[in-house]
Amino acid sequence: MNEDFATVVGWADEIRSLQVRANADTGEDAARAREFGASGIGLCRTEHMFMQADRLPVVREMILAGDDDSRARALEQLLPMQQSDFEEMFTAMSGLPVTIRLLDPPLHEFLPNLVDQALKVQRLELTDGDEKEIAEERKLLRQVSALTEMNPMLGTRGVRLALLYPEIPVMQVRAIARAALAVTKHGGEPIVEIMVPLVAFAEELRRMRAIITQTLEEEFAAAGERFEYMIGTMIELPRAAIMSSEIAEHADFFSFGTNDLTQTGIGISRDDAEGSFLSSYADDDIVRANPFATIDTGGVGGLVRLGVDGGRATKADIKLGVCGEHGGDPASIELFNELGLNYVSCSPFRVPIARFAAAQALLKQQAANQNS
Ligand code: PEP
Ligand code: MG
Repeated sequence: MNEDFATVVGWADEIRSLQVRANADTGEDAARAREFGASGIGLCRTEHMFMQADRLPVVREMILAGDDDSRARALEQLLPMQQSDFEEMFTAMSGLPVTIRLLDPPLHEFLPNLVDQALKVQRLELTDGDEKEIAEERKLLRQVSALTEMNPMLGTRGVRLALLYPEIPVMQVRAIARAALAVTKHGGEPIVEIMVPLVAFAEELRRMRAIITQTLEEEFAAAGERFEYMIGTMIELPRAAIMSSEIAEHADFFSFGTNDLTQTGIGISRDDAEGSFLSSYADDDIVRANPFATIDTGGVGGLVRLGVDGGRATKADIKLGVCGEHGGDPASIELFNELGLNYVSCSPFRVPIARFAAAQALLKQQAANQNS
């Protein structure tokens, strides 16, 4: 960071009350975020670790396993890989909180695309490919087809997937526990926050919390050591925002996933809309801005407000943050500051801007209060 810019951002730090964390999934990004002044990791998307070239074949084995034993074997292989990922994160962020989100996307995202796989089978059939290979590729095609959903973003993902296959979050939590204990042994200070994605019902979080806690206790018993931790949830569905007072009974923190909350709150698919009607909506002033870039204050922002109020009604000091893209957007930061959230989390490169915007938002709010 340029020295003068760093000085100005430093002044902003003396003013702002919002903390600024970063979204990062590797030790390298976490270290960069720290250089940019992040005060922790607000979102570690663990699926990015699953996508790495050396992991993907094992992840596929786990997904396509025909029985519990072979799934367990694949998960056993994944565990040390995840542990080393988390060790890197905890080391880079020693002394600062790291929010690790349990696996979120639907499983088909780790498999070949349905159309590509169908074409592959067809090509092999037409060119009289090896019979054994054709049989294997056909089997894969059937499995990909079985996992394909009409609306995958509203489908078997997040906590739903975790409750269906609890062995996946159990593996991840074991890896988190072992990583935190290992980093502590080497003099580091991991601050562990485990986050459950896509919760809609309080009962989902109650069950996940029980799974997480039991797994951690098993690890603590085996190691003869323990650490403090927090378990929280993303609030990224309208139902979760509306029912936040119930959900808060099982949460130490809420992190607003404003990307999904925008998709589900307004009912528009980001992947489809940004390239089609949304830009003409913005050009024609039907919407003031792209709601995926700047929060729709009255609508989606209203859901965030509901979530905040419900959370605080149950736990006055529940920790509250934002980890959607809006966390790095100055106009959206004004709302998050007004709601008195604890932190915003954004990509490492946006951290300095967010630090600056958080101070500006507070000054603007103070000026407005004085004038009213
Ligand atoms: C969100 O929905 O705002 C979020 C941070 O999660 P995702 O990984 O789905 O963007
Ligand atoms: Mg999300």
